[in-house]
Amino acid sequence: MDPSDLALGIDVGGTAIKAGAISGGRVLQRVETATPHDLEAFLDALAGLARELAGGTALPPVGVGIPGFPAPADGSILGAPNLPFLQGVPLGPALEERLGVPVRVDNDANLAAWGEALRGAGRGRPDFLLATIGTGIGGGLVLDGRLYRGPGGLAGEFGHLPVGHDRLCGCGARGCLEAAVSARSLAAWAREEGLEAADLRELAALARAGNGGARDLLRRAGALLGEALAQVALLLDLRVFVIGGGGAPVLDLLREPALQVLVLRAFGREREDFELLQAELGNDAGFFGAAALALEAGARA
Ligand SMILES: [Zn+2]
Repeated sequence: MDPSDLALGIDVGGTAIKAGAISGGRVLQRVETATPHDLEAFLDALAGLARELAGGTALPPVGVGIPGFPAPADGSILGAPNLPFLQGVPLGPALEERLGVPVRVDNDANLAAWGEALRGAGRGRPDFLLATIGTGIGGGLVLDGRLYRGPGGLAGEFGHLPVGHDRLCGCGARGCLEAAVSARSLAAWAREEGLEAADLRELAALARAGNGGARDLLRRAGALLGEALAQVALLLDLRVFVIGGGGAPVLDLLREPALQVLVLRAFGREREDFELLQAELGNDAGFFGAAALALEAGARA
C-alpha cells in the first residue's frame, strides 16, 4: 500500500453509512453501520468507522458524501431531507475536530460524478452530467474537467427539472423528473397501472419478459428522462450523460425513448452527437470521488 495516496471515503445514506479505505485506485477495506438519526450518535458513528479503518495507525484524510449540500461559505449542510438533523450543521469542521485530520464533505451525487470522471464512464470526457436514479434522482456536473457546484453549492439538481407530468414531488413542486422516474416513483407508478412489480428491478424484468404495460410505462419514463436531458443539452450543450444508481441497469429500456425526445428537443444536434452511458463504478464511484477530494484537502492542510 502506498500511504501517500491512502484516503478514507465515507458514503452516508438514509439507512446505512458505508466507509472504505482507498489507495492505488482500489477499495482496500470496507466497513458499514446503520445510520443513526441524531447528531451526536451520527458524528460518533462516522468517527468510529474512520478509526476502525485506520486500525490504530494514523488517520489519512477523509472524504464524506452525504445526501445534502454543504454551503461553500461555512460547510453548513443544506437540503438534507433524509437526514434533517444535519440541517445547518457544519459537518466537515465538526468531524475535523473529532478526528484531527482534514475532512472534505460534498453532495453524494457530486462525488459519484467525480469518481466516474476519474475512474469510470467519464474518463476522457471533460464535460458530462451524471444522473443517479435511486430513491430520488441526483445529479453531478463535470464541466471543463472540473466538478461544478455553483456559487451556493446547489448545482446539478437534475431530479427537480420540470417535465411533462403533474405528480407532486417531495420538494413541494409538481412535475419534477424525480416524482415520476426515480426508482421509488417508477415502482409507485407501476402499482397505479396495476402491474405486479414491487420495485424497479421487477418492473424491468416484466418489460424484458414482454409485458406490454411494463414496456409502455418504461417507454413513457424514458421520454420524460429525455425531456430533462434536453434541458441540460439546450442550456450547457452537454453531449455525454451517464446514468448511475439503481436505475443504471435498466438504462437499455429507457435509452431509445430518451434519445428520441432528446434529439427532437435539443435542435441543431444529431443523435450521433449524444452518448447516454451506464455508470461503471456502481456504489464505489462515491468512494473514489470522496477519496480524491480528501487527498486534495490533505495536500493543502
Ligand atoms: Zn422536486
